[in-house]
Amino acid sequence: MINNYFNSGTDMEIDSCDSPDLSEIKKDLDEIKKGINDVNKTILQKNLNENIIHYGIKCSNCLQLNFKGIRYKCFTCPDYNVCDKCEKMLSFFHDKNHFFLRIHDTFLYNCLSNKQ
Ligand SMILES: [Zn+2]
Ligand SMILES: [Zn+2]
Repeated sequence: MINNYFNSGTDMEIDSCDSPDLSEIKKDLDEIKKGINDVNKTILQKNLNENIIHYGIKCSNCLQLNFKGIRYKCFTCPDYNVCDKCEKMLSFFHDKNHFFLRIHDTFLYNCLSNKQ
């Protein structure tokens, strides 16, 4: 689209600001930007879900230390965390009335909760 605009010849007024083709180009750019955003979001999501390690946190069910993935912290019990895998079976071994916080990043969570 952008190339067509500049190469397509003599009957187009390139210096006109109201040219309808400019809005077409803008639309194309928006599409490209949107695409880049989507890619960024995907990468971010991947990082959140797979690469962040919860240092110093132990899953209270499978006892795995420094696990990856999402950390689930019980809102009612003072020191109760479970990993992603164990969360799926949580209702079998933990009080169903307890709320759990979903924590992607323990470091970030600590920063935020210390400020409050
Ligand atoms: Zn676990
Ligand atoms: Zn609990």
